Amino acid sequence: MGVYPVTAIRGNANGRDPLVSVSHVRHFYKRGASSNLLVLDDVDLTMHDNEIVALLGRSGSGKSTLLRIVSGLMPPTSGEVTIDGQKVGGPADGLAMVFQTFALFPWLTVQENVELGLEAQGVPADERSKRALAAIDLIGLDGFENAYPKELSGGMRQRVGLARALVVNPKLLLMDEPFSALDVLTAETLRTDLLDLWCEGRMPIRGILMVTHNIEEAVLLSDRILVFSSNPGRVIAEIKVNLPQPRNRVDPAFRALVDDIYARMTARAAPAREGLFPGTGISMSLPHVSTNTLAGLVETLAEPPFDGRADLPLLAERVQMEVDELFHAAETLQLLRFAELAEGDLQLTEAGRRFAQAGTDERKALFAQHLVTYVPLAAHIKHILEERPSRRASIIRFQDELEDKMPEEDAETTLHTVINWARYAEVLVFDGETGMVGLDTPPSAAQE
Ligand code: ADP
Ligand code: MG
Repeated sequence: MGVYPVTAIRGNANGRDPLVSVSHVRHFYKRGASSNLLVLDDVDLTMHDNEIVALLGRSGSGKSTLLRIVSGLMPPTSGEVTIDGQKVGGPADGLAMVFQTFALFPWLTVQENVELGLEAQGVPADERSKRALAAIDLIGLDGFENAYPKELSGGMRQRVGLARALVVNPKLLLMDEPFSALDVLTAETLRTDLLDLWCEGRMPIRGILMVTHNIEEAVLLSDRILVFSSNPGRVIAEIKVNLPQPRNRVDPAFRALVDDIYARMTARAAPAREGLFPGTGISMSLPHVSTNTLAGLVETLAEPPFDGRADLPLLAERVQMEVDELFHAAETLQLLRFAELAEGDLQLTEAGRRFAQAGTDERKALFAQHLVTYVPLAAHIKHILEERPSRRASIIRFQDELEDKMPEEDAETTLHTVINWARYAEVLVFDGETGMVGLDTPPSAAQE
């Protein structure tokens, strides 16, 4: 990798103003027709030069919202953001953003894609080319200047995205889950390369603010972690990571910190049995969790070494699940009363143990019973269908109903999740071709 020309920017701060200051930021989104969703509640953040700060929280906790607010792409409902002492009131100068997947233009080469941002700034052609080549070289894509995006792997495309962000010489680099669309090994290589560049001071930036839902990633990369709670997003902990770089995932101090953060995140998830997921009754938003995942988790929990109770970090390792996925699955089991979350542990209930030991048919019957008892939307759909002579309805009918209660995307996920669970439990049938939902009773029985 060549040497990037603009190292001087680091350390050039006026020494007084923080690089980023977020104070008393609150944000509401309109939810459905009538209500507002409080996504960020009184968030404060001060970031100084030479820091990597991670915003860590589960999906839906408002991390991306905060990043958009810091970038100036969206004003907060109330509160204030300053970058380098300047109040942010629109798309802010000196920032660049890297997203989970980078929208590269397929008809442009790597170099042309990287130069785009400079063209917008009116930088002359020869300087554009020089800076783009330096950024491409820096990020490890030397030799691919003339390649087209389709010729690149996912990891290389993400490098182009990073080069495109760096080429504009931002003071602050904002990254929203930049590694989460990559496979495990590619993600780790890119993290290490980024960290090397940062530690060697070869990137022309003064700070990195990144969003992640991955605890280990936050501990690996950042100097400070702000842990978000969900519903509403609130900073529940600020953790300084004092481990020297390069960090080692198996180092006991690293593990202890990961465990501590796990416990804090689950402690907040545990208190209410109801209302784990946003909304109540049929308005409760549910995440996508498959019945295979649920059954697998119950089985693993029931077996040694766990014998019915497991520490979440250990369980995550065992079942090879990401934190977010595991939380969703664990909370779903809690909603269905097959398990309970407490103090960072997941424990099977009596019904959970029975499920683990049961054969296929008995499992389905048990699941059906818990589904219609504890998931109001499942009971609601069943009830509506029972009232109809045809015992069928279009999925659109329920989709429309839910969209009045939650954002379109959540309505779709929630409905599909519940229908999938109900299909497994043989409570409902669903025809993907016609979009008709029906009761799982033979047509003859239903007709006459
Ligand atoms: P995260 O990045 O932590 O996953 P987000 O900031 O994307 O969280 O979203 C926080 C919450 O706000 C979620 O419940 C999401 O459904 C909701 N949300 C996000 N963007 C919008 C929007 N444009 N309109 C309405 N609700 C939104
Ligand atoms: Mg997000």
